Amino acid sequence: MKVQDEKVIAGISCSQVLERLSDYLDGDLPPEGREQVEAHLRGCDGCSRFGGEFKATVSALRGLLGRPGGLPEGFRARLRRSLSSGSGRE
Ligand SMILES: [Zn+2]
Repeated sequence: MKVQDEKVIAGISCSQVLERLSDYLDGDLPPEGREQVEAHLRGCDGCSRFGGEFKATVSALRGLLGRPGGLPEGFRARLRRSLSSGSGRE
């Protein structure tokens, strides 16, 4: 992905933000790194647009892949209850 207007906002350049975006979304960045990326995204039109699309794509993919631990607690409990209660018991 090529960035046309390379800008430095919050002490980090557009290409550095794009490099760190997947780590950022994975939660692999240290807190100060996250803040820097967030500050850049807030101040940079191009990156915030790209970052938003990227985030939406990643979360959609994660939903499709159904990673372990990806289901909310309530959903698991409901699923288990509906499986174990069955029909015709009692
Ligand atoms: Zn930028």
